[in-house]
Amino acid sequence: MIMIKVVLATRNKNKINELKTFFNELSDLDITVLSLNDIGYYAEIEENGRTFEENAFLKASVPAKLGYIGIADDSGLCVEALGGAPGVFSARFSGGDDEENNDYLLQKLHGEPIRDAKYVCAMACVFPDHSKDFTVRGECYGKILTHRQGDGGFGYDPLFYYEPFGKTFAEVDMAEKNKVSHRGVAMRSLIKKLTKVLS
Ligand code: IMP
Repeated sequence: MIMIKVVLATRNKNKINELKTFFNELSDLDITVLSLNDIGYYAEIEENGRTFEENAFLKASVPAKLGYIGIADDSGLCVEALGGAPGVFSARFSGGDDEENNDYLLQKLHGEPIRDAKYVCAMACVFPDHSKDFTVRGECYGKILTHRQGDGGFGYDPLFYYEPFGKTFAEVDMAEKNKVSHRGVAMRSLIKKLTKVLS
């Protein structure tokens, strides 16, 4: 079996481990997952795309330019009553940290009866010769509560109520969340597609 190297365009160890676990579970390819640091790339990558797909593609193009198969994700929260905001600006919604983003979201939705929202994750796979590039998308639908519930997860999880669980994403563990989450769905479809493309 040939060994294949892919570079996940991130320095986040959790994301690297998550992708490795998904590959082990879902693919019989012999894949090594490297990070940007592993390939000696230390510069920041600017995320100035207008869509999740554009940002994921932009990030995955960095390792591809250096001769590796590049993979990247971009994700965020889209709130119906806010016309899809914060979207690609989810991490920078309030200009502060996760706590401030959640406060800002509650403030924006104060008195708003329509609480529907979705998490979106786009993942891109970019090849050095661009011959087999593709993007995939995972979505997960929920409702924004009027108060925080639970202390697990990250980002908007304490406000994101997932009806089939009867809980917020801050009240479930990572494995449970990954079964249904935008990132879980996107990762599974990326691995399926990549396995097909490389087999
Ligand atoms: P990134 O794709 O890692 O840049 O994530 C962008 C931002 O979207 C994060 O900083 C969070 O605010 C939000 N976000 C994305 N996925 C999740 C999630 O699973 N839970 C909570 N917040 C998320």
